[in-house]
Amino acid sequence: MKIYNSLTKRVEEFVPNVEGKVGMYTCGPTVYHFAHIGNLRSYLMEDVLEKLLRFSGYDVKRVMNITDVGHLSSDADTGEDKMLKGAKREHKTVMEIAKFYTDAFFDDCRKLNIKTPDVVEPATSCISEFIHMIEVLLEKGYAYKAGENVYFDTSKLKDYYVFGNQSEDELMVGVRDDVTEDTNKRNKNDFVLWFTKSKFEDQALKWDSPWGVGYPGWHIECSCIGIKHLGEFMDIHCGGVDNMFPHHTNEIAQSESFLGHKWCNYWFHVHHLNDETGKMSKSKGEFLTVSLLEQKGYDPLAYRFFALSSHYRKPLVFSYEALDQAVNAYKKLKNRIASVPEEGAEDAAAVKEFHDKFAETVGNDLNTAMGLTLIYDVLKADLSGNTKRAIIADYDKVLGLNLLSAPESADDGEDEELKAMVEAKIEERKNAKKEKNFELADRIRNELLEMGIVIEDTREGVKWHKA
Ligand code: AMP
Ligand code: ZN
Repeated sequence: MKIYNSLTKRVEEFVPNVEGKVGMYTCGPTVYHFAHIGNLRSYLMEDVLEKLLRFSGYDVKRVMNITDVGHLSSDADTGEDKMLKGAKREHKTVMEIAKFYTDAFFDDCRKLNIKTPDVVEPATSCISEFIHMIEVLLEKGYAYKAGENVYFDTSKLKDYYVFGNQSEDELMVGVRDDVTEDTNKRNKNDFVLWFTKSKFEDQALKWDSPWGVGYPGWHIECSCIGIKHLGEFMDIHCGGVDNMFPHHTNEIAQSESFLGHKWCNYWFHVHHLNDETGKMSKSKGEFLTVSLLEQKGYDPLAYRFFALSSHYRKPLVFSYEALDQAVNAYKKLKNRIASVPEEGAEDAAAVKEFHDKFAETVGNDLNTAMGLTLIYDVLKADLSGNTKRAIIADYDKVLGLNLLSAPESADDGEDEELKAMVEAKIEERKNAKKEKNFELADRIRNELLEMGIVIEDTREGVKWHKA
């Protein structure tokens, strides 16, 4: 399997630390509001990556944090506290907000067939581990106390700009953009490990620490939770591109200083979903959530199809027209699959051959669009209906599009009419059989067949599909 590694800026063969096993980490949501479908694009593509690794035979352990403390509205430690902002907006406590939006996030994930990671850990349940890590960083001389906060000293590192897509100048501009400059920082890029001197008088969540009552900085949680559950060596770390700097850069800085060796080998970043005006936001324009799409009558899986149709390393522009096109393509695909008859022996060799083809195709830096195209090759292949169905079921373990479930009751009038007609005929045939009028029953079956409708008597009742 090949994957683009942001660390080396190359597509590389994926080789895990331990043969056959993968330790995978995903930066989880900040639970102060609903996730927008941009955030969910990242989780969706990470889900496909996880499933593809499993499909390719790896034993995957996936860990995700939930950010319920420490994330300020600017990733560079300034601005408002996001959780506090959510609590004020809704007149609730920070923990109520965290619980509500964590549940909402996993509801959205379920609707999009995004598997829940093996381990999900909220930042607030690991405070003692954060404190330990910060103590070690202080002992090793990588951190300092200033103005009652604890900071990471980036000048102690040889390679700070790991994800150096940005020039040093650009990084500086990013920092300069912040309204309130933290004068405690010795170097521009130093970052907070522990706040005690908070500018938020009403900071809700605080813990005792060797440096006074306070709360952790944002980056420490991912280093700590990652190491806690995946050990000293991590295979793949994921997030959206905006996480590269400063978040992931700072995660690497503290983890490697703490461990004394390289931490994670592959960094996987999903590009943004933008709306037509630019970057998607929770505060400006229409707040695009899964629930909003549902209210407008969209099947969340049509959004999954839309996301899979494009490459994760390209920005994707969302528009309702583009989503409508995806809805149509998805519906057509499902209808074609539904018309594959459940007949013939299953050809295990063909299933294996197509499995390997998919693993190789999609395994080329997560080429999901090509993976979707492969389904059409399966549909056209000279194989029994049951073999085709088995291959598609196999592909769906990665694609997660419910490809074999009955197509959504089509909302265009023609299909509705057809459905009503077929169901009426099936009812008529059932009654004919009850009355032992087998001649009529057969006539009805043949009539339907002539119209291109196949009916089958199964243990669960009569089923039908287009021939
Ligand atoms: P947050 O809840 O803000 O911490 O973000 C959750 C995840 O969504 C992170 O991995 C971000 O990098 C990612 N993300 C944020 N905005 C977008 C976007 N417009 N498109 C794709 N991913 C995004
Ligand atoms: Zn993170």
